[in-house]
Amino acid sequence: MTSRRRFLQASGAAALGAASSLVNGASPASRNSLGRVMVIGAGYGGATAAKYLRLWSRGAIEVLLVDRDPMFVSCPCSNLVLGGSRTMAEISRTRNKLRDHGVQLLFDEVTAIDPVKRKVKFKERYADLSYDRLVVSPGIDFMDEALPGLKNPEAQKRFLHAWQAGPQTIALRSQLEAMRDGGVFVISVPLAPYRCAPAPYERACQAAFYFRQAKPRSKIIVLDANEDITSTPALFRAAWNELYKGMIEYQPNAQVVDVDARGNAVTTDSDTAKGDVLNVIPPMRAGEIARSMGLIDANKRWCDVNWLTMESTAMKGVHVLGDATLSAPAMPKSGQMANQHGKLAAAAIVEIMNGREPSAYPVLANTCYSFASDKEAMHISSVHRYDAGQKTLVPVPGAGGISPRRSEVEGVYGWACAQNTWADMLT
Ligand SMILES: Cc1cc2nc3c(=O)[nH]c(=O)nc-3n(C[C@H](O)[C@H](O)[C@H](O)COP(=O)(O)OP(=O)(O)OC[C@H]3O[C@@H](n4cnc5c(N)ncnc54)[C@H](O)[C@@H]3O)c2cc1C
Repeated sequence: MTSRRRFLQASGAAALGAASSLVNGASPASRNSLGRVMVIGAGYGGATAAKYLRLWSRGAIEVLLVDRDPMFVSCPCSNLVLGGSRTMAEISRTRNKLRDHGVQLLFDEVTAIDPVKRKVKFKERYADLSYDRLVVSPGIDFMDEALPGLKNPEAQKRFLHAWQAGPQTIALRSQLEAMRDGGVFVISVPLAPYRCAPAPYERACQAAFYFRQAKPRSKIIVLDANEDITSTPALFRAAWNELYKGMIEYQPNAQVVDVDARGNAVTTDSDTAKGDVLNVIPPMRAGEIARSMGLIDANKRWCDVNWLTMESTAMKGVHVLGDATLSAPAMPKSGQMANQHGKLAAAAIVEIMNGREPSAYPVLANTCYSFASDKEAMHISSVHRYDAGQKTLVPVPGAGGISPRRSEVEGVYGWACAQNTWADMLT
């Protein structure tokens, strides 16, 4: 039985109760004084937007939050599950507490949107529902066409990305556990921009942390399509040299262009790399629903937005958040940043729906921790403010920075930072 079916059985009564309280297709404006906002995607961006729309409108905006999955599983800290120092349960949270703010949760997949009639179609459980404004925070999907061999179902089972935390995180951990001592673990990094610049290098640290204890003769090869480590290179090199000497081999300018399921190998422009476990992270674009509804308007990959409101430049009345956006200069694709996008959008939508002007001076901040082991972490932070001349968010010089790898105490801060964000968006 799939986990989805199990959930439907376990929570059927409660969820159907919530569904029947929605007036399918009815004009939303009649139900709340300011109207209805539908939020697609209850990850870092969408869950934050939903909660703060309710709080900052003082309940005057009806908020429907849709996600395929009732459980939130965090990508941040999922590398620690691969390293063995955290469990899936520790990085998973229920979304139910958002109901305390009056957010209506719908667990289903959105399959289509009609922006003219302002209606959303669902895969399984709900009839069409209408909205006054739409927020889309679907995260990323993969450009599998960049790696033709991945079409093979056998290759899909073998070459995991584990770049959307969940079943693939568990499966990749099992592959690492099953690997022989002396085996080779290959991680392929796509060209930037991709979700979370430091995360592939953090993953190399976490795999090495595990191998050092369980299979010390093993090796990690990082095949990086970029010309250098894309985030805090000196800090990662120091961690690799000081903690895991001789275990991690880094190859820059090594773009994986195909995979070979039979040979258990990946090919780059100039070489073939074999491995016991191959973690292939394909290039990415905005989540599929953003693509199918025509929101992708930059490089055929990302959704451009007005940074005062997060409103799509392709479609009026639709706001796009998180990794799906065309990032502003030097802005990371991170959970922290998606959480900030959620608040920016919520504040702007409350103003717009009240007939007022949104703030002309948004400021966003980001902090990302990378764990070098179970306890040691380093961090990078940045602040981004709106520049009216350039009509985008720009980094504030001197306001961010990096901290070198620190002992236990800093590692605890990294874990606390993740927990604080989960509390901010889900409770
Ligand atoms: C290994 C790894 C480590 C990371 N570490 C960090 C870190 O330390 N700090 C940090 O800040 N960031 C980190 N990140 C990045 C972070 O995970 C993302 O930037 C963040 O998840 C983006 O939030 P989002 O809202 O755009 O997308 P997501 O959080 O992915 O949420 C998207 C949601 O939309 C739902 N969805 C999509 N399409 C539909 C549909 N059609 N119908 C219904 N639901 C739909 C999905 O189910 C999902 O729940 C890491 C990422 C990875 C892979």
